[in-house]
Amino acid sequence: QPTIPAFVQGTKQLLIGGQWVASSTGQHIDAINPANGELLCRIAQGNAQDVDRAVAAARKAFEGPWSRFTAHERRKLLLKVHDAIMDNFEELALIETLDMGAPLARTRGYKEWLSQLLQFYASQTGLAGSVTGTPMSIAPNFMALKHQVPVGVVGGIIPWNGPLMGLWWIYGPALATGCTAVLKPAEDASLSSLRVSELMMEAGVPEGVINVVTGYGKDVGQALSEHMGVDRVAFTGSVGTAQAIVRASAGNLKRLQLELGGKSPDIVLADADLDKAVPGAAMGVFSNTGQVCVAGTRILVQRAIHDEFVQRLAAFAKTIKIGDGRESGVQIGPLISQRQLDRVMHYMDIGGKEAQLVHGGQRLTGGELGKGFFVEPTVFANVRNDMTIAREEIFGPVASVIPFDTVEDALRLANDTPYGLAGGVWTQNLGTAHKVSQGIRSGTVWVNCYGVIDPATGFGGTKMSGYGWKGGKEHVESFLYPKATYFNL
Ligand code: NAD
Repeated sequence: QPTIPAFVQGTKQLLIGGQWVASSTGQHIDAINPANGELLCRIAQGNAQDVDRAVAAARKAFEGPWSRFTAHERRKLLLKVHDAIMDNFEELALIETLDMGAPLARTRGYKEWLSQLLQFYASQTGLAGSVTGTPMSIAPNFMALKHQVPVGVVGGIIPWNGPLMGLWWIYGPALATGCTAVLKPAEDASLSSLRVSELMMEAGVPEGVINVVTGYGKDVGQALSEHMGVDRVAFTGSVGTAQAIVRASAGNLKRLQLELGGKSPDIVLADADLDKAVPGAAMGVFSNTGQVCVAGTRILVQRAIHDEFVQRLAAFAKTIKIGDGRESGVQIGPLISQRQLDRVMHYMDIGGKEAQLVHGGQRLTGGELGKGFFVEPTVFANVRNDMTIAREEIFGPVASVIPFDTVEDALRLANDTPYGLAGGVWTQNLGTAHKVSQGIRSGTVWVNCYGVIDPATGFGGTKMSGYGWKGGKEHVESFLYPKATYFNL
């Protein structure tokens, strides 16, 4: 097994104004390895006072030399950050695996994608400060110029299920546009955010441009959402927290970006190529131990192939290697915490009562696995869309297979959910692919694939899955606002 990086030791401090500082509380939170329950190190437990300090540093940086960086200078800086991250990626992947459990095969796999994401943001630095001139229709001697202006200080609140990727939805556009950021990672997985931020400072990001305040959501997250000095909050997490943030942000009418959960439908038509659809739909729900916002947890299967599909899905689930993410060949690691384990087991119990359990349904306790938070990939068949396991987000490796008869039925079931994050369709018929993908009410749909996200295109949600777009030009523009200047010539 790879040795634990030197970074993972002692008590990690807060990053405020370019300095690593102790939290005002003097208290800390244990960083636990979910694969074995062992203590990795400690992280500072920040509070509202620390948020005050970080926001002040971010404001100072926003109004300081950073505001005079040209688009070219921001692009060069982003490319330097890119290189620093790539050069240290093996360490970052290992830190992520230790802290949140995903297998090294997965965390290492982020490298190429992150490289492309960072290069994408570097290519977008010209948007901030861009000017368009428009002739005026009301009077000939008037002219208007429209500038794109950075919104200011951005609070980023992210979850634990993939922070090494998730933090770039804040830092990427902030650096591209000239905004500054205060990042609040999830208390269960803050280490990759801290190490990435350290590498960014070493790569030359000016002090105060990025700040990190670790701690609990009810303290740090709440304070950031309420803070009158924060202009925008970019949040990824659960619906309940998003609602708290909407309320907390009312004081200064913050701009919000809310990327929330889902109960995404993955529709398998009878004409699908099952050699692709079975593994595709399986990993669409089981990868990252099901802790994926876009997970295709409701697998809608046309009745003619329901039984065959279920049998092949269960056979696939049996082949998945589960274990400590540092071991080679492991495809699925543990759940993040005892709390998440309890939650997933609760839904597995409910599923066992209301639907037909075909595979899994148990916590794994054999040998070393008993020290961690491992569960079996689980398949329930003949699920009805009104059952609890088909309605509520489980955030674990639990697939609910729901039979349907016609394409119209599939779309009705697919859209019968409060969520609207993602969806999938597997078919070899182009017309059906169009009809179904257009008919699913969600921000993202995959046809004959699942979970692919292109940096330049991005993804997002609708309905109770929130609003705002991640990736693509729209994402960068959401860190800007248009400002018109009218000239009487
Ligand atoms: P969560 O909402 O409990 O926590 C997310 C973050 O919000 C954490 O940093 C947490 O500390 C913070 N937080 C908690 N209470 C807060 C408060 N009152 N004010 C401000 N911040 C607060 O979510 P979770 O359980 O950690 O993550 C899982 C959820 O995230 C799932 O619903 C999942 O679908 C969603 N998710 C969505 C996406 C996406 O892009 N749509 C990506 C990953 C995860």
